[in-house]
Amino acid sequence: MKIKTKLRLGIGLLFTMILVLSVVGIKNITALKNDTSNILADNYNSLEYSENMIAALDLLQQKQDGLPVFEKNLNLQKNNITEPGEGEATGEIVGRLDKLKADPFNANLHLMIRKDISRVMEVNRAAIEHKSSIANQTAKTANTWIVLSSTLCFLFGMTLLINLPGNIANPVRELTASIKEIAGKNYSQRVHYRGKNEFGEMADSFNTMAEKLEEYNNSNLSKILIEKIRIETLINNMHEPVIGLDENKTVLFINNEALKISGLRQDDIIGKSAQDIALKNDLIRSLVNDLPQAEKTEILPPAPLKIYADNKESYFEKEVVNITIKPTGEREKKMIGHVIILKNITPFKELDFAKTNFIATVSHELKTPISSIKMSLLLLENQNTGHVNHEQQQLIESIKEDSDRLLKITGELLNMSQVETGNIQLNIQQSRPELILEYALEAVKVQAEQKQIGLMVEMEENLPDVKADTEKTAWVLINFLTNAIRYSQQQGQIHIQIKPHENGIQFSVKDEGKGIDSRYRAKIFNRYFQVPGSAKSGTGLGLAISKEFIEAQGGHIGVNSEIGMGSTFFFDLAKS
Ligand code: ADP
Repeated sequence: MKIKTKLRLGIGLLFTMILVLSVVGIKNITALKNDTSNILADNYNSLEYSENMIAALDLLQQKQDGLPVFEKNLNLQKNNITEPGEGEATGEIVGRLDKLKADPFNANLHLMIRKDISRVMEVNRAAIEHKSSIANQTAKTANTWIVLSSTLCFLFGMTLLINLPGNIANPVRELTASIKEIAGKNYSQRVHYRGKNEFGEMADSFNTMAEKLEEYNNSNLSKILIEKIRIETLINNMHEPVIGLDENKTVLFINNEALKISGLRQDDIIGKSAQDIALKNDLIRSLVNDLPQAEKTEILPPAPLKIYADNKESYFEKEVVNITIKPTGEREKKMIGHVIILKNITPFKELDFAKTNFIATVSHELKTPISSIKMSLLLLENQNTGHVNHEQQQLIESIKEDSDRLLKITGELLNMSQVETGNIQLNIQQSRPELILEYALEAVKVQAEQKQIGLMVEMEENLPDVKADTEKTAWVLINFLTNAIRYSQQQGQIHIQIKPHENGIQFSVKDEGKGIDSRYRAKIFNRYFQVPGSAKSGTGLGLAISKEFIEAQGGHIGVNSEIGMGSTFFFDLAKS
């Protein structure tokens, strides 16, 4: 039965019962009222008239005038004849009235009339008894009816009270529990409700929905599984080693290339903490160390990893991609893991080595002929070799300048190849800053004079010695000074300052040249970099070599410069 019908029936029946109860009550109360009012009107009044008549007779007996009272009550009684036998008795009294009027004090007549009145009273008393027993019976019946209908009402009410809330609430509770299960992704959940009411229809609809959700979920799951296999195959077939970690650095996946170079088996690493594996595996240690915490994907500056695998040395560049998501309904991004990709740069490294070796060989081979050219120039200049005219002298000067430049370039290239192959031979010892400065000033003296540039030295007295390779440090200072002279105006000034700095000594060279654009400031220490538009006479190697030389000695190198405001190049070295 439908819930709506059930409710209608229940409440309707309750109303009916209340109605029945009211009707039964009213009907029985009316019956009782009728019974009692009958007694009052029919009999009690007759008794009263009779008593009044007797009292009138008593008055007559005492020779008083009781006749009018008697007649009045007799008339009233005449109109109130209700019981069988009452009419005859009253008629008798009426018949004797004329005699009483003629002889009011006749004792015999009084006696006879009193007997008739007694009969009237007797009849009415008997009627009162009879009617009161009828009223009693009516009261009993009313009681029975009221008790019966109240019991029925009570029983019905109780049945409704016990069953109706459960009938409505139980299916709702079952349905709520099932909806909660579905919300918890238990799509196999069904509601087993067999009723034919609205809840039955609701349960059917719910089951259909759950079935569809289950089907959808399963189809999605299989799609996701296919996607997973596809991505795994893709990652496995990549020629670059790839490792995936979750936000707790647990290894989620690793491809065959990564397994090959790490020497691990898949079972040893998948699902394990990368930090635990790092304790035993050098490669994993270098990969998971310094994983960026920031949300943005970050490509670390290339710091090639040298790995020995497949019987050869390989070079890899580590790239860490942070995986971030924005959870549904949230504003903040959340990091859920990292993918570490190793780019194999071995072929580029091999090419780089070949280039460095080639440059080293060529510059080494060039050094001897250039030196002999310089030697020949010296001989040519010598008067003993023969007289040279003015034009020839100019040609000799020009060849000298070019061979000096060539020697400088080959020297820089040789230094660079040493740096690139990691073969810098440092001779670090206790060195006097004054000596380094003197050596450098001597080397650039002629150049400065040619441009009429003043070299101003500012050096504190009693400076401590520094821990340095004198020759290489002087080379750096010469490079600073040649650049400063090259980029200064004619008759300009260059300030050289040597002063204590933190735990060491700082050397700085300040010029009044054109300065360096902020866009290029960080790049000028890169190999082969030259600021666009600057004199092309150099190689772009001087500052790169300087940086390597200073950093190899544990020092720092840098520049402060603004366009049009000159530049200050500086380096500092530790005190010895
Ligand atoms: P180069 O042999 O070309 O001078 P460097 O490595 O010594 O190579 O310098 C790199 C570049 O830095 C130069 O090409 C030049 O543009 C810039 N540079 C170096 N020193 C100065 C300076 N004192 N003033 C302005 N620019 C400079």
